[in-house]
Amino acid sequence: MKSVFRQLAMWLGALTLAVAAALTGPTAAQAAAPAWPLLSNGSTDTNVTTAQYLLRHRRYSLTIDGQYGPGTTSAVKSFQSANGLSADGVIGAQTWGKLVVTLSPGANNDAVRALQVALNKYGYNLVVDGDWGPATTNAVNSFKSARGLSGGSVDTTTWQYLTGGTGSGNYRLVIGKSVLPRSEYDDPHHDYPAIDLPTLTGTTTYAITSGTIGHVGGSCGLGIGITGDDGAYYLYCHLNSRSVAAGSRVSAGQVLGYTGATGNVTGPHLHLEVRVNGANRCPQNMLLAIYDGVAVPAPSTLPATGCFY
Ligand SMILES: [Zn+2]
Repeated sequence: MKSVFRQLAMWLGALTLAVAAALTGPTAAQAAAPAWPLLSNGSTDTNVTTAQYLLRHRRYSLTIDGQYGPGTTSAVKSFQSANGLSADGVIGAQTWGKLVVTLSPGANNDAVRALQVALNKYGYNLVVDGDWGPATTNAVNSFKSARGLSGGSVDTTTWQYLTGGTGSGNYRLVIGKSVLPRSEYDDPHHDYPAIDLPTLTGTTTYAITSGTIGHVGGSCGLGIGITGDDGAYYLYCHLNSRSVAAGSRVSAGQVLGYTGATGNVTGPHLHLEVRVNGANRCPQNMLLAIYDGVAVPAPSTLPATGCFY
């Protein structure tokens, strides 16, 4: 009889633990969610573009330009009035809560464009086409699992992480996130501050940040230089082909061309340099921050030693 009671007590204990785990699981994830960002007239960032696509999804007519001006303010006021919110034209927690929509794989609309823009803040380099296909699925799953969020859909909590997280600002990965593992982005270079990313010929390469394009040759092969709006110079070498003309402007994440093995190489790879006032800096910390979707260190703060042998 005693052993039956002990058995029962153990079983009840296990049940209590299981219930406690089920109750604390989702709560723990939500407690860590970042605050919704506050957007108002004059705001200019990726979250503004996300909000504009969400407003257009709700059939408000406005220009998608990442600039929170009179047109956006007016659309927000209309949306707030229609949703029982005080029409102050500012997007805060309450307005975000009403504005976001739950999305699932296969959706095709402006809310998916909002999602793709928001994901790109974390280095995913998605084409903003409003079509939730396999690339968007991979990005959503990667983003959610890194934050302990379960399920394949994008719900209010996911939107909160997407818009409230720091992201990488005006920086994007130079190749697709799934091309190479994170461990490739901290490798030292063989002779001076730079990095070699072992990419197969034909891998799409993207602008790390916005700036102006220059074409580079010589041992760099088919090379591209970006004079960045952040004041740094970014050099991409050994491309198989270039998709942007010298002198043209690019935005962060824009396709520059395709990697290859031109110039002085022993095999295909993407050689990348970051220069500040003509001096090479170690790109590793910058690339890792972009990969992780966190705030990117200013190029001038990158070390000049410790990343080569
Ligand atoms: Zn190299």
